[in-house]
Amino acid sequence: VFVCFEGGEGAGKSTQSGLLSDWLRARGREVVLTREPGATAIGKELRRLVLSPETGVLDDKTEALLYAADRAEHVATVVRPALRRGAVVITDRYVDSSLAYQGAGRSLDVADVDRISRWATGDLRPHLTVVLDLAPSEGFGRFEERDRIEGESVEFHTRVREAFVRMARADPAHYLVLDARAPIDDIHAAIVARVQDLL
Ligand code: C5P
Repeated sequence: VFVCFEGGEGAGKSTQSGLLSDWLRARGREVVLTREPGATAIGKELRRLVLSPETGVLDDKTEALLYAADRAEHVATVVRPALRRGAVVITDRYVDSSLAYQGAGRSLDVADVDRISRWATGDLRPHLTVVLDLAPSEGFGRFEERDRIEGESVEFHTRVREAFVRMARADPAHYLVLDARAPIDDIHAAIVARVQDLL
């Protein structure tokens, strides 16, 4: 079972992916809790390259390809092997982050970003993507990490947010959209209710 968390900064992805992971482990499931970018050795280098303030502004295509490279390595060396042995894989960000940030957020054609993402992953798709939906202005208050991306405009982050919700609405069987302002326990309960159906 492959579950993905998506949403803007400060929406609670790491909190909720951690809680879901604990819940599954308490029920005896092997869980691999992972993230993009930066889950592998090469991915950590790519994360540093793409997010460090020293990098400055990258060409949009270069940025998209670095995320795709991180994802190819992640899927090949972490996600697929774990799924093959029957583990539940929970990832904090996946293809939809690229469709939202590099596609809707920047000026790249979403169809192009989709194509490189499908190629990088061998078209491996999550059984469920949880979108933690939050207005960018609220997320920023909760976001402490200082990185290059934080300097993007509210309009950029609004396009990103709208892209996540649009993807979810188009495919309700594979998505769960939750208001990230709700209490942590309520969000967790809603996620568990959906994940139970997948086990
Ligand atoms: O989720 P996390 O905080 O680790 O993401 C780090 C940053 O990378 C975020 O600020 C997000 O804006 C950016 N990002 C991106 N495109 C992706 C994945 C993440 O711009 N495909």
